[in-house]
Amino acid sequence: MSWPYVVGVTGGIGSGKSTVCAEFERLGVVVIDADEVAREVVLPGSQGLAAIVAEFGAGILNPMGSLDRSALRRVVFADPARRESLEKILHPLIRTRIREQVSRVLSPYCLLAIPLLVEKGNYDQVNRILVVDCPVATQISRVMARDNLTLQEAEAIIRSQATREQRLNKADEIIVNVADIESVKSQVERLHADYLAHAANLQTSL
Ligand code: ATP
Repeated sequence: MSWPYVVGVTGGIGSGKSTVCAEFERLGVVVIDADEVAREVVLPGSQGLAAIVAEFGAGILNPMGSLDRSALRRVVFADPARRESLEKILHPLIRTRIREQVSRVLSPYCLLAIPLLVEKGNYDQVNRILVVDCPVATQISRVMARDNLTLQEAEAIIRSQATREQRLNKADEIIVNVADIESVKSQVERLHADYLAHAANLQTSL
């Protein structure tokens, strides 16, 4: 079985990860979204949700039987041991599901979008790291406009994430998203050619 080359995409809130991923998708590249996978593994009826209920009780369910994320957040907030229990349940499920999705990719490479890649340090799932970067002031104005946040709320989220420098230090490639979408498109097209070449090299060296 051939295994695709996996490019991890990361970046701070509002840096433009989704915008960049959409451009790769336009070129036919499969994008796996780690946040989406994290939501899928706790859907009603899933093994993940059953395990969470067994650990934390039915109080973390909504009346309709789905996960009440804010109730769960309250339970694990400020209690590292409980947070660790939650992560022990979720991480193996998320990893397995990501591997399943990667194994089904037919193109030579795929993107794995992990917003908190640098914060969590789970680099073993990716062959390369692509960082989407822009100045903090740009992140702030984008998320204030998109999510209707106050300046203080936007700044608090950014403070809770890795710094721009920490992320750039881990980057194999960087997309600078400060100009218009045309500039994103041309950077994506250039990288797409590079990744196809990397993927081809990997296949021949196996
Ligand atoms: P999050 O971390 O919140 O998921 P993200 O990194 O995926 O965000 P996007 O959703 O791609 O970021 O972009 C944030 C906002 O900024 C969106 O409203 C998007 O349309 C806008 N945006 C992104 N890049 C550009 C650009 N080059 N020019 C204009 N607007 C942009």
